[in-house]
Amino acid sequence: MAVPLHRSVHLGWLGRSGPLIDADQQSKHSEGQPGLFQAALSGLCPRCGKPTLFEAPASVAITCEACGLDFTKLERGARLAGLVTILIAALLIGAAIGVDIAINPPFWLQALFWGPFTIAATIGTLRFYKTALLYRQYDIQIEQKAQGE
Ligand SMILES: [Zn+2]
Repeated sequence: MAVPLHRSVHLGWLGRSGPLIDADQQSKHSEGQPGLFQAALSGLCPRCGKPTLFEAPASVAITCEACGLDFTKLERGARLAGLVTILIAALLIGAAIGVDIAINPPFWLQALFWGPFTIAATIGTLRFYKTALLYRQYDIQIEQKAQGE
């Protein structure tokens, strides 16, 4: 009993689901599964773990090239992706204004910094958001299959 609980606490920081509530469920299919952060960073397929999830930096592929898993059946983030992007933009504008007021750097330095930083932050957040969503969908699908749905 103590071992799965320890495991789930270890995995729980990724915030996939309440670690104390479904400790048993977590330990069942997280065998060798990478953490969500790693999955988002490398774009790992939820079924085979190969880096096939993204066909473009922030665009989910149609199917997994390695195992053929249909990502279109899982991905539900397309509609909200715009909203997430707007949210990131708002946060970045706030941060840019804050930096401008605090240290007042020259314009060329700001342009040099905020350009790449904005692109990286947007792509990174969208990747993480889409991966989290897709893995959640995959978990639900696995559960439904296990229940013989
Ligand atoms: Zn795969």
